[in-house]
Amino acid sequence: MDMDKVEILYVDDELNNLLGFKANFRLDYTIHTASDTIEAEKILAENPNIRIIFCDHRMPHELGVDFLSRIKKLYPRPIRILLTAYADMNVVVNAINKGNIFKFVRKPWLNEDIISSIEEANKFYIATSLLDIKNEELQKAYDELDKFAYSISHDMRDPLAGVLSAISYALGYDQVKPIHELLLLMQGSVLKLDQYIDSLKDYYLLRRGELLLKEIDFHEVADSINEFYKISIEENKVNLSITVEQNSLFKSDLSLLELILHNLLSNAFKYQKLDAKDKYIKAQFKVAKGMATIIVEDNGIGIANESVEDIFKLFYRASHQAQGMGFGLYNVNSALIKINGKVEVESELGKGTKFTLYIPSK
Ligand code: ADP
Repeated sequence: MDMDKVEILYVDDELNNLLGFKANFRLDYTIHTASDTIEAEKILAENPNIRIIFCDHRMPHELGVDFLSRIKKLYPRPIRILLTAYADMNVVVNAINKGNIFKFVRKPWLNEDIISSIEEANKFYIATSLLDIKNEELQKAYDELDKFAYSISHDMRDPLAGVLSAISYALGYDQVKPIHELLLLMQGSVLKLDQYIDSLKDYYLLRRGELLLKEIDFHEVADSINEFYKISIEENKVNLSITVEQNSLFKSDLSLLELILHNLLSNAFKYQKLDAKDKYIKAQFKVAKGMATIIVEDNGIGIANESVEDIFKLFYRASHQAQGMGFGLYNVNSALIKINGKVEVESELGKGTKFTLYIPSK
């Protein structure tokens, strides 16, 4: 079947009309024909790409207008056109007013009437399909907005409420020591808020920004990671080892790549087993034939099987061991989409987690 041709179903109990329709239009369109409405329904069920249905009104078992209004519920997509003689004008007006048919073509039909109806119906079909896609996108945006409203009322409000209550306690003290302790509490809350706003910034950066491509040397990336996590390594007593094998040039957006790596690495630090002695994080960069394979692996708390597929969702959290908003991996995923990358996760609860990224050079 020709994928570019518009698919049409023609329903008529007069065999000559079916043959004539097929003979006239089969070169320009993909034509299905049916001599009764039962057969027509079967064809509709088997051919989801049918865009336009022509149906004769005077059919023996079921009137064309009844058939078209009946299948509208099951098959809302195809554009419905009624073929009818002048005598049935009332039926036509009624059916158009009720939205059961798109238009009618007078019988016996002329080729040019059929062709102009097909063109018109096809334009309408394309416009409504685009509208459906836009509506879906809009629905997704609304859902995210909804999650945002919820998250703002919790993740932003909670730290603020913490600061406010610490202030009101502090106002009741004269000595420096308890005030100092309350200041530490406030600092914790403000840091949390700051982290939240930082992830929010990434979220918007990912939505709007254009790609900024440059050559990337993964040895330099490794050096800056080592430098950046120096303090975390000491504080958490985690062994971070990084290996780099780069045999070819690699071009991508460095800030997106850094966003991805920092989220994965900071999670690998955050979700360590707190009392373990041999905590490690391994990062591996391999670039060959224009493809970077990056592994970030830890022997931390791991992720339960049932949670693994949800961790890339906005605001999803599978653990409360560490502070976080559930933004990180969502941002990782958005960044990967922008640079055409893919991610695989292997994780076992209590054993550790391994993220493998595949990123093609741009
Ligand atoms: P969060 O702000 O909660 O860290 P993320 O989107 O970065 O949000 O991660 C989502 C969830 O995935 C986390 O809450 C955590 O349960 C889980 N997770 C992510 N990385 C790891 C890891 N390296 N080890 C264990 N769990 C992880």
